Amino acid sequence: MKVLVINSGSSSIKYQLLDPDSGDVVASGVVQRIGEPVADGTPTIEHSSGGKTYEHDGVVLDHAAGLQLVFDLFAESGHDLAEEGLRAVGHRVVHGGEVFFEPTLITDAVVRTISDLSSLAPLHNPANVVGIESARKLLPEVPQVAVFDTAFFHHMPAAAKTYAIDTKIAAANGVRRYGFHGTSHEYVSGQVADFLERDRTDLNQIVLHLGNGASASAIRGGRAVDTTMGLTPLEGLVMGTRSGDLDPGIIFHLIRTADMNVDDVDALLNRQSGIKGLSGVNDFRELGRLIETGDAAATLAFEVYIHRLRRYIGAYLVELGRVDAITFTAGVGENDAKVRAAALAGLERYGIAVDEARNTAKSRTARYISPEGAEVAVLVVPTNEELAIARASARLVG
Ligand code: ADP
Repeated sequence: MKVLVINSGSSSIKYQLLDPDSGDVVASGVVQRIGEPVADGTPTIEHSSGGKTYEHDGVVLDHAAGLQLVFDLFAESGHDLAEEGLRAVGHRVVHGGEVFFEPTLITDAVVRTISDLSSLAPLHNPANVVGIESARKLLPEVPQVAVFDTAFFHHMPAAAKTYAIDTKIAAANGVRRYGFHGTSHEYVSGQVADFLERDRTDLNQIVLHLGNGASASAIRGGRAVDTTMGLTPLEGLVMGTRSGDLDPGIIFHLIRTADMNVDDVDALLNRQSGIKGLSGVNDFRELGRLIETGDAAATLAFEVYIHRLRRYIGAYLVELGRVDAITFTAGVGENDAKVRAAALAGLERYGIAVDEARNTAKSRTARYISPEGAEVAVLVVPTNEELAIARASARLVG
């Protein structure tokens, strides 16, 4: 029996129909530019099933309309979702706040609480709620499950979760470090244990999830003890378009002196910063091409990115004391050998090394990039958040 996984963003819906046991994907697709005009002729929905691609070119008015069109494409490609006998619908939900830290069966009360948490994730939670409500209307008989991006970090020690500000103000406003990408960090660290044929409770790990958004985590015996993202996904590593860590004084300075308001600074730090702010491009393939042409801004962007990444790797080495595995995952982590080599260069005295031939070999499966017999296993492990959500949902509904 299959699970439908839905990742509903502010103007997009990504989805997959998959078998949680085998991991086989029956169909997948993406709805884009929801609520936006379509002028350039690129499809708003791309749906793949059985090796064929199905497209929709018209305007998608809202999430409910988008999901209905997706259901129609499912039917057209031979999968009537109402007849499919779905085991569950699994929803990716970005912020679980203090409330949700396990996969949770969705009820009206759960939807209200996810909605109430929107002040912590104003771009994400409202979009997640719309996706949930649309799916519940279309599939009222199928159990729906919310899987939270923050959940894996719920049990971090207080020292890692606490910002050093007035405790009353922090408590009244939910200000603490939550962490994100938890589904990926948990899934990948589990895959690492399987790959090494070790029990996850015996392993200390650093996981580097480097995609367009990026975060690192320190995991002791299967439990996250630290991560780079905080109250929001803005903290920590340099990302495709986000600044990551900076002196919070910069925000006051820009508001006071640069004629920018809070929303301007929010947009600057979330959408016009990071690799994009420094180099003009946010995709690492383009960044690599610019660096090869000798572009100084692109070279500096790469150096700033690596500098920040190494800072956190160092911090987590000290925090964990002993590290068994360091793992790269997500779009950049899985594909960019230069990032991986630079992130761990010169750490041989800590038992950490990257073998050049292994690092540059092309592969889509979990693999070592450290030399044979190295003290610390350095790995590349593909993430699969959809499969993790499908499995968590199937497990919950039994
Ligand atoms: P998201 O955070 O959107 O889920 P992904 O994990 O899919 O992101 O990562 C997307 C990013 O991965 C792209 O923006 C690009 O920078 C990078 N990427 C993808 N393929 C490659 C590649 N072959 N080489 C280098 N970087 C890549």
